[in-house]
Amino acid sequence: MRAAPAVPPRPPVAVPVTIGAPNGAGRAKGAPGAAAREMPVDGPLLDVYGRVHRDLRLSITDRCNLRCVHCLPEHGVTFLPREQLLSFEEITRVAEAARSLGIESVRITGGEPLVRRGVVELVRQVAAVGFEDLSLTTNGTELARLAPELVAAGLHRVNVSCDSLLPERFAAIRRRGELAPVLAAMDAAEAAGLGPVKVNVVLSAGSNDDEVESFAEFARTTGRTVRFIEFMPLDGDEAWSRELVVPAEEVLARIDARWPLEPVPAPDADAAAPAERYRFVDGKGEIGVIASVTRPFCGTCDRLRLTADGSLRNCLFANEELSVRDLVRRGGTTEEIALMIRRSVWAKLPGHGINDPSFLRPARSMSMIGG
Ligand code: SAM
Repeated sequence: MRAAPAVPPRPPVAVPVTIGAPNGAGRAKGAPGAAAREMPVDGPLLDVYGRVHRDLRLSITDRCNLRCVHCLPEHGVTFLPREQLLSFEEITRVAEAARSLGIESVRITGGEPLVRRGVVELVRQVAAVGFEDLSLTTNGTELARLAPELVAAGLHRVNVSCDSLLPERFAAIRRRGELAPVLAAMDAAEAAGLGPVKVNVVLSAGSNDDEVESFAEFARTTGRTVRFIEFMPLDGDEAWSRELVVPAEEVLARIDARWPLEPVPAPDADAAAPAERYRFVDGKGEIGVIASVTRPFCGTCDRLRLTADGSLRNCLFANEELSVRDLVRRGGTTEEIALMIRRSVWAKLPGHGINDPSFLRPARSMSMIGG
């Protein structure tokens, strides 16, 4: 096995990610310089560092029917009261304002988005806004049942989370549920027209990192892109530690040693996408790595998030949010909502700061934010 991958990492980011205040005290105050410079009120959706934002993650519920170890605690989870959640109309109003600002792609997430009652109707309303790309991330438990309706409603693609190909381990990681129905749901999604399915695998050292090669083989035999995600400090149990992170470089080296890889060249590889894409040199499919911890991609980040209770977050790790819900419920206009989105994005910090000594975990865990 080779010590290092034959595949080069993604080129350096366009925006410096270490300038400005460190992410401890600095985070709460927003991007340094954001207040001093004048925010443009028209043109592309920009942050103070010049990053153009085109991608919106829409969390439509904080509820989940699973308790994955890297995401939610096993017991004692409290969910938001219903009245705090944005209604379908409220979500769609924010989506429309985002579209008016040049947002091109939307990913619906949660919690588990497919457990929100009426999700198909919500997808229909968001799809009607007219985004170029509309996808959804799911744990797969409700996907087989809903796939045909989701396609008819205007959904383009799905990402399915699946952290093990071993039934017992799969169940242990999720703390609920079985592997076979989730694999069947991937088939059903593709049969319905939601393919090719991308498969999200969060790796954790000593838990499932011995399955890297099995997942690569799975990618090669199914044609699905498996995306290996580095474990981030957003778990409800607060058990994350650096030792549990399986570096993308190691993942690439192991796969490359068995089945040589090469980077997917531009323009197919979207520089702003979180996943670095690699294809098998023999032409049998591709894999991706999301190296949020060891190779942060903040310099090309073009994402904005809306939580299920209507807060705008400019970063997964932000400690500051702007509530657009209050504005929407006060009868704010699309222009006012758009201005608030601009303010949120403008205040984005240069980097998420996980590797800064002063890093502070956000108060919300992954499923509360929307992964
Ligand atoms: N319920 C859906 C699902 O399971 O895919 C969507 C929400 S889930 C929060 C979105 C993605 O975040 C999943 O792929 C999940 O594995 C990932 N995720 C959750 N906690 C994570 C963590 N601490 N670090 C990295 N990824 C995480």
